[in-house]
Amino acid sequence: MAVRLFALTCGWVTGHAAMFMEGATGRLRVPVPSFLIDHPRGKVLFDSGLHPDAGRDPAERLGRAAPYFTVELNDGEDVAGRLAALDVDVATIRWLVTSHLHFDHAGGHAALPNATVVVQRAEWEAGHDADAMHANYYDPRDYDTGQDVRLVSGEHDLFGDGRIVCLPTHGHTPGHQSLRVRLDGGDVVLTADACYLRRTLDELRLPTVVHDRERMLAALHRLRALRDAGARLVYGHDPECWAGVPQAPAAIT
Ligand SMILES: [Zn+2]
Repeated sequence: MAVRLFALTCGWVTGHAAMFMEGATGRLRVPVPSFLIDHPRGKVLFDSGLHPDAGRDPAERLGRAAPYFTVELNDGEDVAGRLAALDVDVATIRWLVTSHLHFDHAGGHAALPNATVVVQRAEWEAGHDADAMHANYYDPRDYDTGQDVRLVSGEHDLFGDGRIVCLPTHGHTPGHQSLRVRLDGGDVVLTADACYLRRTLDELRLPTVVHDRERMLAALHRLRALRDAGARLVYGHDPECWAGVPQAPAAIT
């Protein structure tokens, strides 16, 4: 039985382009992606997008990060709404692989009560350390949501069949991870914020806000090697590339 991958757009955020890539000017409006993966052993979500309140009252929900972003998130566009539109009961999501703990990746976690959160140990520990929380703009309301948590360190094959593999791509945050999905049509790597834009990878131009530049560069080199070997990359927040990604209910094939 095949593995199927679906892209969900869970709102948009706009911020200074330089936040996404050093030296860029003006502002950039970017999608907030989440991905549903239908595997024979259960449904998996990669990232959960924004909390619904981020659209209604961004100043309250985003807190210290609010001044840097304009949020567009209408009712029904959060991850729970997107899943409902696909007739997927949120209670059936079994695994919630989390790239990192930022508000636009973990904001929907509360909507997935039965999912086990799969996160890198370094990321989870940073999310529970006062200094690291402050430095990384984490808000535990996003991720301290009561589910079981599976802490992983380094590469992790979710079902042991090579189909869904967490790839450590630390640097954007202390324990960031990307996800490789092996479809019948080839490998797709969901970079998340290890690589915001295609140009990030082409030009090795980092964002202005980075937890660890050296590690992020190393992660970019790893992603480049995967791309060179034939994997298709879906970048974390690239509006041009996103326009070419089939949206659910169409599958990425
Ligand atoms: Zn992000």
